[in-house]
Parts: sequence; structure tokens; C-alpha cells
Amino acid sequence: MTPFALDLNDDQKAVRDWIHGFAADVMRPAAAEWDEREEFPWPVVQEAAKIGLYSLDFYAQQFFDPTGLGIPMTLEELFWGDAGLGLAIAGTGLAAVGVLTNGTDEQIGTWIPQMYGDAREVKVAAFCSSEPDAGSDVSAMRTRAVYDQAKDEWVLNGTKTWATNGGIANVHVVVAVVEPGLGARGHASFIIPPGTPGLSQGQKFKKHGIRASHTAEVVLEDVRVPGHCLLGGKEKLDERLARAREGTGGRGGNAAMATFEASRPAVGAQAVGIARAAYEVALDYARTRVQFGRPIIDNQGIAFQLADMRTRIDAARLLVWRASWMATTGKRFTAAEGSMSKLFAGETAKSVTAQAMQILGGNGYTREYPVERMHRDAAIYTIFEGTSEIQRLVIARSVSGMQIR
Ligand SMILES: Cc1cc2nc3c(=O)[nH]c(=O)nc-3n(C[C@H](O)[C@H](O)[C@H](O)COP(=O)(O)OP(=O)(O)OC[C@H]3O[C@@H](n4cnc5c(N)ncnc54)[C@H](O)[C@@H]3O)c2cc1C
Repeated sequence: MTPFALDLNDDQKAVRDWIHGFAADVMRPAAAEWDEREEFPWPVVQEAAKIGLYSLDFYAQQFFDPTGLGIPMTLEELFWGDAGLGLAIAGTGLAAVGVLTNGTDEQIGTWIPQMYGDAREVKVAAFCSSEPDAGSDVSAMRTRAVYDQAKDEWVLNGTKTWATNGGIANVHVVVAVVEPGLGARGHASFIIPPGTPGLSQGQKFKKHGIRASHTAEVVLEDVRVPGHCLLGGKEKLDERLARAREGTGGRGGNAAMATFEASRPAVGAQAVGIARAAYEVALDYARTRVQFGRPIIDNQGIAFQLADMRTRIDAARLLVWRASWMATTGKRFTAAEGSMSKLFAGETAKSVTAQAMQILGGNGYTREYPVERMHRDAAIYTIFEGTSEIQRLVIARSVSGMQIR
């Protein structure tokens, strides 16, 4: 049996240092520019692809790291570099996880490589679940997928919103209603292959933070995809729907939820990276900024804030690592440990970046210093992939066994 350990092994440390180098040398110098441009940073993703940091091989290696720490370690370093650029690099991962959790081996082998492309021609992917009237309430989804048996094709109609990489993706993974009346258990996920007619980008959102990441509506008008684009296959879907109709289906019936459950600790790791970055800037600043004849860190009011910031960041990382370790080693979440990690890390990123701005005083409020951007970036971490309120709902239901509303 492997002894209990909380430190990274030598291989992991080498990978972490390599990512850190990219984050420090390539991402940080480019971060402010792409934030201002508010455009998808293809050249940065291309740079990451050139060194193998944006590649299916690299993510597969980290995803299957037996300790479970490969993905959180990778994401923490990337988002320490910059969250907008980090999400441009990591956003494809959500769609990839959508296929990994719901797809057959053949679908995994066919579609995930097309999500990343290669170093000569990088591609990205999008996971489209949210809709204008179905955000936290996934069961209110309206996008419909209807099976055309004669042609063995699915026909999709509807509007998705808030899709990271929506419209610029090579491969879109779309969650749709296949049987109305069953709520979220009547949903299924579909691959929309590159160039499929009927899929178009709606409005691109202008955002508060993570502005280098592309977020847009995705409109589906009579989008026809072959039967093999239904993730998991028709037989499995029919069995699942039959169980749901009889009221015997388990929680595995919800396609979007399966993806979110698997990705929550990873999102928590991103938040830890942002918080750590802001904390480091604040610590440096507090040591060097002199007021009243001494560095401001000499005041307990400042030093204690830094102590609290660091404590919260370390606690958040431990929750993220625990959830990732549990997921990878097959331990069942019994108290929504994935949601706990995302909730605490998201709230930590938001509060730590706000404290960092305060410690930098006027400078913290300007774009001359990065904490202003980090604070804007951190704000999304209590909203996407399930808001903080929804994480609390999931945890409360899990620990109480009650249908808390
Ligand atoms: C930048 C960005 C990127 C995103 N990327 C993706 C993506 O790639 N794919 C995707 O599918 N989606 C994506 N999303 C969507 C995101 O997951 C949703 O915004 C989120 O789930 C919240 O949904 P909503 O915005 O409709 O808010 P609402 O659900 O309308 O919530 C509004 C407020 O009400 C609260 N609330 C709602 N229900 C309850 C309740 N029962 N109890 C207590 N409080 C409640 C919420 O917590 C929130 O504070 C993205 C969003 C953003 C902003």
C-alpha cells in the first residue's frame, strides 16, 4: 500500500516546474494585453501546443495520474500565470471530460483528439449545457434532440448560452432533451462534429473578467448529426430512459451533472492558482511599501490578513487535492467533497483577491498592478460550474439526505 503523503513526487515536481516556467515566461507577460483585447489568445495557445502543454497527450497523462494530483497541480500553475489565458488553454478540458464521462471508447478515441488538434493547427472544444432559462436549474433545459430513425440521425434545435469556446470550437458537446417530462434524466449529450450545418455562434459576451476566454451563445437550427454522435450510444440511452420512466434510474441519468461532478475539483484548482498569485503580489508589496516609516507588513492589521489569506489558500488546495484523490482512487463522494472543494476555493479566490487589492491601496485599484485583473477574474469562480449557492445546496442535500430547496 502507498504510504499517506501530501507532497508531490519527483516527476510531478518536474512537470509543475515546467508549467510554472511557461506561466511565468509566456503567460504573465501576455496577460494584460489579452485581457484588454478581449479576444481569444490563439498565439498563446499555439505556444502552449508547441511545447506539448496544450495537447491531448499531456492532459491524458495528468488525468490518469494515479495520485489524482496531476490535473489540480497543472491547473493551479496555469491559473497562477493568468486566469483568462489559463481558461483559453484549459477550456477544452470540460468538453473532453464530457466525452470521457459519457462516451464509448470509440467516441473517446475519435472526438477528443479533434478537440485539441495539433501543434501545427490547434483546435478547441466547447461544452454547451446552460441556456437562457436553464442555468442553475438544468432540468429547465429546452434544447431538443429528436431521433430520425429512417436516417439514423439526431436533429437538434435550441439556444445554448455562456458556452466557453462556443462557436469557435472545432467540436461542440451539446446537452439536449431527448425525452421531455423526465427532467434532467431525460437529457443526453451529443457531439456536433466540425463544420456541421445549422450550428452558429450567437452573441459573444463582454465580461467582467477572464476576458481572454471566449464566451458566447451557440444557436442550433435543425442541426443533424449521425446516430453515432449520441454519447454512450442509443442502446444505453434507451435503457436509461426506461429506468427513468419506471422511476428506478439512479443519479447517473443526468449527462450534464456527470460532467460537472468530475470537473468541480479541477475548477477549484484554478481558483487556488488565482488566489495564490494575488497573495504573492500582496506579500511582496506589503514587505516593501513603507508608510509611517516602516513596511506596511509591520502592522498586524496587514500581517494578519496575509496570514489568513495563506491559511485559506492552503486549506482550499487541500480540499481540492482530497476531492481529486478520492475521484481518481475510486472513493465515493459521501458529503459532496467535489462541491466542497469548488465552493471553498471559489470563495477563497474572491476574498483573497479583494484583500490583495486592499493591501496594495491605490495601486491595487489600477491596471498597473495585476491584482485588479485577478480580482475581476476570480469573481467567476463563485458563479460558473455551479454557483456557490448551488454547491451549498448539493453539500446540504448530501450530508442531510433531505431534499433541501
Ligand atoms: C464566463 C462564463 C463561462 C461559462 N461557461 C460555461 C460553459 O462552458 N458551459 C456551460 O454549459 N455553461 C457555462 N457557464 C454558465 C454557468 O455555469 C451559469 O452561469 C451558472 O450555472 C449559473 O446559471 P445562471 O447564470 O443562469 O444563474 P441563475 O441560475 O439564474 O442564478 C442566479 C442567482 O440565483 C441563485 N440561485 C438559483 N437557484 C437557487 C437556489 N435553488 N437556491 C439558492 N440560490 C439559487 C444563484 O446561485 C445565483 O446567485 C458559464 C458562465 C459564465 C459567466
